[in-house]
Amino acid sequence: YAKAAGRSAFRAFAPEMAAKAQRRTEMEIDLRRAADEGQLWLAFQPKIDLGRRTITGCEALLRWDHPVHGSISPADFIPIAEDSGLILPIGEWVLETACRQGRAWLDAGLPPVSIAVNISAAQLFQRDPVGWVTGVLESTGFPPELLELELTESQLAQDVETVVAVFGRLRDVGIKLAIDDFGTGYSSLDYLRRFDATSLKIDRSFVDGMLREPGDAAIVRAAIALAHSFGLSVTAEGVEAEAQQDFLRRLGCDEAQGFLLGRPVPAAEFAALFQHT
Ligand code: C2E
Ligand code: MG
Ligand code: MG
Ligand code: MG
Repeated sequence: YAKAAGRSAFRAFAPEMAAKAQRRTEMEIDLRRAADEGQLWLAFQPKIDLGRRTITGCEALLRWDHPVHGSISPADFIPIAEDSGLILPIGEWVLETACRQGRAWLDAGLPPVSIAVNISAAQLFQRDPVGWVTGVLESTGFPPELLELELTESQLAQDVETVVAVFGRLRDVGIKLAIDDFGTGYSSLDYLRRFDATSLKIDRSFVDGMLREPGDAAIVRAAIALAHSFGLSVTAEGVEAEAQQDFLRRLGCDEAQGFLLGRPVPAAEFAALFQHT
């Protein structure tokens, strides 16, 4: 009986798996063309200083407007880009576009806001990652001090030695480095000791739960204390409610991001946030 059930379950499952694989392949083919055809763009989400209540910078978030399927989430296409190696050309486009935008904002008289760019580990494993990043800074004229790179804990864990080495050299150039989605990966204290990071971003799942679940609140409190004891600044992700912002401020969290404070928006809309006087 078990065998029969197993077999029929398999039969029902197989076409679904095949369809999924097919969608992945199609997405990869489409993604290969997306940058050339202008389907990719960057949204910018403000980062707020919780104490001073000012915008200190933004995070650049990749957007893909597919001609048929509409807007596709980076959570869906970044893993495909990583598996196929497309993350390298796409990641180049992201960094160049972000730095060019940052330079244009400075030229337009905006206050110096930092721009955080998400990177995948594979980008640090290419031939000359430091030369690549500094080359983009030079060609765009964007100051290294205003660039922050974000790497998730799980990406970081792929090859700790290499990431430590590359991070160290990027820090020497003046670039800031954030550990993203903190608390969702292995959260080894050893990373914090070894990485020359400048900030830690508390994953939004903990911020979401911290006013309901004592466990989430404990993680948020501990992450803030931990970061500060390592000399890192802390950013909370996914702040959606006034009460969450107040709670984080009381805990001494440095910065926050979230729909309450500003959604990811096109460049012109982000710049308009500075227009009111
Ligand atoms: P992330 O770096 O942790 O970015 C934060 C994500 O949370 C973004 O999702 C943002 O839109 C979303 N978010 C911000 N505030 C709120 C909030 O208050 N509530 C909720 N529910 N969500 C909020 P997004 O833009 O869909 O990006 C998902 C992930 O994709 C990013 O997570 C990042 O890991 C990755 N990603 C995005 N752009 C790039 C890129 O250019 N390169 C690479 N390698 N990864 C990227
Ligand atoms: Mg990020
Ligand atoms: Mg994150
Ligand atoms: Mg994330």
